[in-house]
Amino acid sequence: MKLIPLLPSPLSTLLERITLLATNQGTALWLVGGVIRDLLLGVPLGRDLDLVVEGDVAALSAALVAELGANLRAAHPEFGTASVAFVCDGAEVVFDLARARREVYPQPAVLPVVEPATLEEDLGRRDFSVNAMALELRIVDGHLRAGRWHDPFAGQADLSQRCLRLLHQQSLRDDPTRLLRGVRLAARLNLHPDPATQIQIRHAISQGYLSLLTPERILGELCLALEEPQPLRMLAHADAWELTPQIVPGLHATPHLAARLARYAAHPPRRVPVGQVVAGLFVYDLAAADLHALSQRYPLPSPFARLFSEIPRLRDLGPQLQTDLRPSQIDLFLRPYSDVAIHVLHYAETGIAAQRAIHYLEQMRPLRLPLDGRDIQRLGVAPGPAIGKILAGLRTAYLDGVIQTREQAEAWVINNR
Ligand code: ATP
Repeated sequence: MKLIPLLPSPLSTLLERITLLATNQGTALWLVGGVIRDLLLGVPLGRDLDLVVEGDVAALSAALVAELGANLRAAHPEFGTASVAFVCDGAEVVFDLARARREVYPQPAVLPVVEPATLEEDLGRRDFSVNAMALELRIVDGHLRAGRWHDPFAGQADLSQRCLRLLHQQSLRDDPTRLLRGVRLAARLNLHPDPATQIQIRHAISQGYLSLLTPERILGELCLALEEPQPLRMLAHADAWELTPQIVPGLHATPHLAARLARYAAHPPRRVPVGQVVAGLFVYDLAAADLHALSQRYPLPSPFARLFSEIPRLRDLGPQLQTDLRPSQIDLFLRPYSDVAIHVLHYAETGIAAQRAIHYLEQMRPLRLPLDGRDIQRLGVAPGPAIGKILAGLRTAYLDGVIQTREQAEAWVINNR
């Protein structure tokens, strides 16, 4: 197994120091889960790596903090887990440390009871074969080397065939979030469920296992999905698995949605949270009742709740922005909306409406008038609501090109006070 040379060198150096420390404590370390999968596929690694620790997690995490300057993010000694962060190559990398454990599900879809177990059992509690491989990290002659290799479910072979395979028959009943994890993985890595997994997926959907999950857990998975690089592919998988109607009723993979997401992917926004923009594009065409039901069903974080409440009015704005308008009218239309909402409008609409949305954000919203409230008082306007009115009028005149300089602005105030 030639995985160690595939690690990017700053990460490999960091892992070498971590492994040396663990070895000195008599603790064995295993790299597991997504990092192994991504190394085998040759795709960029995430910033969150999982390590199974055969030894004392609390002692190891304490040493990582004291001796290697890690930042302790979380520690749950009762579960044998800890999370530590390092800065590596200018960015943060988080290591999730955990004792090998088995999980027992007292009821379907609730969080499991966790017990210490062997590494084999730990791999057996995982979701898909491609996520159930482990590589021991060793120090040989002072250098990081690969130790033992565990691939009990033939994950490597599945990866080479782009196959998504659940590990056992009860998997989706135990934890239906695996349906959503599966959609994410399938879309991101171009994987396809094997025939047995397809049957399990169909069964889970027909039995409505997803409805056993709390809305918070579904929402957590949906938020992760919004950060994925191929949102439309995810919808295609969710549709193929007949999952979409159970999660977001009324959502359909239409050519309109595809075109919007393509426009977004070609020029993603830089200054606003992309997950919110993608969410807005997904729900842009939902009927008002479906949109309302979505907000009722999920405990949406407030920026999402605000955006979803803005969508119906935003949709009406689209056609209005196609008509003949003065700049000040565009300003009046768009001013009440958040930057995220206006980005959504920009990607959702085409032609002049799309251009006006982005022009508003870049040129009109940041506009500073040459005079402020104090200047206007100095020009003889009494403090109070009149100042606000004058400022609004000034902004209109300025946007429409009636005034361009400070002198013209002062003359305008004197004429209109
Ligand atoms: P990503 O690149 O999306 O972060 P990942 O596989 O590292 O992928 P994590 O959510 O960090 O995803 O999970 C780490 C590992 O924990 C997974 O690879 C998998 O082995 C296991 N895992 C996570 N969630 C579940 C789950 N719901 N059921 C079973 N195993 C899980």
